[in-house]
Amino acid sequence: MDAAMGMAKIANGDLPDGLIDRLKAIVGAKGWVTDADALQPHVTEPRGLYVGRTPLLLKPSTTDEVSRILALCNSSRVGVVPQGGNTGLVGGGVPHADGGEIILSLARLDRIREVDPLNYTLTVEAGCILADVQAAADAAERLFPLSLGAEGSCRIGGNLSTNAGGTGVLRYGNVRELTLGLEVVLADGTVWDGLNRLRKDNTGYDLKHLFIGAEGTLGVITAAVLKLFPKPRDVATGLVAIRDLPAVIELLSRLRAASGDAVTGFEYIARIGIDFATAHVAGIVDPLAKRYAHYALVELSTPAPDGDLQNVLERLMAAAIEDGLVIDGVIAQNSAQAQALWRLREAVAESQKFEGGSIKHDVSVPVSRVADFIAAATAACTDAMAGIRPVPFGHVGDGNIHFNLSQPKDMDSDAFLAEWPRINRIVHDIVVGMGGSISAEHGIGQLKREELRRYAVPAKLDLMTRIKHALDANNIMNPGKVL
Ligand code: FAD
Ligand code: ZN
Repeated sequence: MDAAMGMAKIANGDLPDGLIDRLKAIVGAKGWVTDADALQPHVTEPRGLYVGRTPLLLKPSTTDEVSRILALCNSSRVGVVPQGGNTGLVGGGVPHADGGEIILSLARLDRIREVDPLNYTLTVEAGCILADVQAAADAAERLFPLSLGAEGSCRIGGNLSTNAGGTGVLRYGNVRELTLGLEVVLADGTVWDGLNRLRKDNTGYDLKHLFIGAEGTLGVITAAVLKLFPKPRDVATGLVAIRDLPAVIELLSRLRAASGDAVTGFEYIARIGIDFATAHVAGIVDPLAKRYAHYALVELSTPAPDGDLQNVLERLMAAAIEDGLVIDGVIAQNSAQAQALWRLREAVAESQKFEGGSIKHDVSVPVSRVADFIAAATAACTDAMAGIRPVPFGHVGDGNIHFNLSQPKDMDSDAFLAEWPRINRIVHDIVVGMGGSISAEHGIGQLKREELRRYAVPAKLDLMTRIKHALDANNIMNPGKVL
């Protein structure tokens, strides 16, 4: 990892003479940062895996300013790293350590441009914080269903650029499925106004999909038209202990069919995740009296006000207990209890850092193979290293497992993290062997670039390279990320 490079002194001699002043002039006094301390959080990846360097962070407040910045950087051949909330987990939003790139923060492009409840759309600028987008939808009696742990600080442009997933994908899809239109500034400064508010439009290539999930390598997203949905009026949430891994998937499949496809959340948690969460996160308690090996957090919801979902969930759980799929469980009786169950799920992710080094895998397999995958990867990793502690959890409703591994209790954490590539290889080989993906929701960035090169079919890499060249011939857009 690049963390070893540490924090070098910020120099600004790496950019062409006079460029910094010309860039500052575009954005005005409020729109730039050069102070090393103020830059520090913007050059550091959230887990500290990558620490980069830059002489300049720009905060444009209009699309026109973004356009002028890119035109100037393109003619000067200077790399631009777009940044939203810098919560991305693959090192995509931070510059390299050579100090030759600028950061372009979208934080000041944060206006809600239009709410259209009848069209069920919301038009927002890229710098809007996800939680603010959700709130704007809610104020219009609508739902914007993208929801993830970082929603208080990640920004919609970052969500779009990573094609973010989260906990609502099972019902509503990734952010790609939630987008109707985009406004994008291309590498040469051209503004593409693709703020389409249509549900049907077959006029040629659907260009927005090039930029969604491109991690800032093809252009800068400045605004988007997002799809809204009716607000859920009835929600039922439960935590259940499940017989074994195959039963987890069987239960999901049954609940979908028997609830009229009302399942909007289905998150797997292994016992060790509950142990970590209750040990390390204040206020988290195990809601069940006994210990079990496998759990799922289940949420049903519907816009119908009289859906009676709590009774539906209780009835379905009773039947699953009868059939031996479910062993035990609780169903929230009010929204405070439901929130406590979701906090437990979030705490599983948060608490791992208190158990020393952790090697992460954000992978997906077909939903029907999830149980096989967790069993095979657990066996292979425990064979590869005595005492290693698998902590699988996540969005099994989408086949997406965060297959994280905590270090053996008595091991040095640096020595454990040095095994990252070896353990990745073992897990990723199993994933790919099952027709899965080595990056289900976090993207490629710097962290998985070599893995993409290894596992992607050559025709895909070739097409990606040709698209990159066509849109960004001078390679100024987030160079060295993804490809
Ligand atoms: P950044 O980290 O700033 O940037 C991410 C990438 O997008 C970078 O490559 C950057 O260059 C590029 N970029 C940013 N803005 C733009 C733009 N306007 N135009 C072009 N390129 C741009 N992710 C999930 O998918 N699901 C989860 O459930 C989830 N849970 C998380 C929980 C926690 C606690 C944390 C810390 C992260 C989680 N993530 C999750 C990862 C992360 O939050 C998402 O990837 C998020 O979408 C990133 O948004 P951001 O604004 O922070 O983007
Ligand atoms: Zn996730």
